[in-house]
Amino acid sequence: MARYREALCRLCRREGEKLFLKGDRCYTEKCGVERRKYGPGQHGQRRKKLSDYALQLREKQKAKETYGVLEGQFKRYYFAADKKKGVTGSNLLQLLESRLDNVFYRLGFASNRRQARQMVLHGHVTLNGRRVNIPSCLVSADDEISIKEASRKNVQIEENISKIEHRGLPAWLEVDAENFKGKVLHPPTREEIELPVQEQLIIELYSK
Ligand code: SF4
Repeated sequence: MARYREALCRLCRREGEKLFLKGDRCYTEKCGVERRKYGPGQHGQRRKKLSDYALQLREKQKAKETYGVLEGQFKRYYFAADKKKGVTGSNLLQLLESRLDNVFYRLGFASNRRQARQMVLHGHVTLNGRRVNIPSCLVSADDEISIKEASRKNVQIEENISKIEHRGLPAWLEVDAENFKGKVLHPPTREEIELPVQEQLIIELYSK
């Protein structure tokens, strides 16, 4: 499957804000957005007024890039969110936030979503005691996410666990770092999803 393989900081610079795609580096002065506060490329420094469509598109891109989801998959999340009861925008973010790779990252076991995705793909993660290697698998309330016993000595995992206390944990999750596991307390509400995205603009874009 085609994935974005260019410099990740370009994505943030294009959106003009931090999307936290690189983990620890995003919190340092080496961050691309901190160093170059303008868009990437030859015309990046030009100021342009965005049309309504462009604004909607940018919000969609921001969400898509943050969660590392491709266009077709993102659209399927929209359709699923639209079918669910409640506010479509919040449903959309709730679905994205409930992906196994995102939850693994939010628990602090990975330093960014890309790394979390790779760890899931490489079979380091179990869901309710069973190995799951599908990053898009959705978790629900009371699900338990653990690091496979044989993977607990993995250097990256050990490093992430050593920093876990300093990472903020969302209220809808619980972590037990000593035992390499975490739990979903309840599905995330919009207020609990820390994401600087105006989801109603994404809905407007797709409902045209
Ligand atoms: Fe984005 Fe992180 Fe790069 Fe900063 S360091 S531009 S937040 S990916």
